[in-house]
Amino acid sequence: MSEHDHRHDHDHAHAHEAPPSPYHRSERTSERNAELTERVAKLEALLTEKGLVAKDALDKLVDVYEHDLGPMNGAKVVARAWVDPAFKQRLLENATSAVAELGFGGLQGEHLVAVENTPQVHNVVVCTLCSCYPWPVLGLPPAWYKDAAYRSRVVIDPRGVLREFGTELGDDVEVRVWDSSAEVRYLVLPERPAGTDGWNEEQLAAIVGRDAMIGVTRALPA
Ligand code: FE
Repeated sequence: MSEHDHRHDHDHAHAHEAPPSPYHRSERTSERNAELTERVAKLEALLTEKGLVAKDALDKLVDVYEHDLGPMNGAKVVARAWVDPAFKQRLLENATSAVAELGFGGLQGEHLVAVENTPQVHNVVVCTLCSCYPWPVLGLPPAWYKDAAYRSRVVIDPRGVLREFGTELGDDVEVRVWDSSAEVRYLVLPERPAGTDGWNEEQLAAIVGRDAMIGVTRALPA
């Protein structure tokens, strides 16, 4: 048997002898791989466009994810909306252009939609298919956001899932679950907490956490 034949036989046999695993698990893995591949391709294209060479590109990528992309961006957007009603209006009408006013935008944020929490309505975001997420304002998604358990359960029982995050909602509060996609990414505008009158944007941004902008928690005074 040639080396090639052997390799082929091995792969073939392996595929059939693999212990049965939950279907959703292998499906999720391939989804993730596909999404990861797509992300890498997009990033490579972007970096090549900017004329960065390979090593610099890698360093730049790490730097971007550590310092430029992250929930601190979204927190600045929320804080601005809390202090500036005209900005809030623009944010709710066209979030992509509103966040661009603060210098945020680009990859995975092209069609951003902001949804406002009020005493009557609580919004929560999921991607039921994979892990679509508004990178320019929240950075990379947390592991639980990509988990099948969150993705399926938050649709079926949003109040139960929110309770697990410590968020109790009254029966009179309407819960809206927004399913992200490659086309539309959502950002939750949390309610401004009581007791923050007179706070400046920097102080306000400091109490807006990532989870509040996904909608699984509230923004709370520190
Ligand atoms: Fe997705």
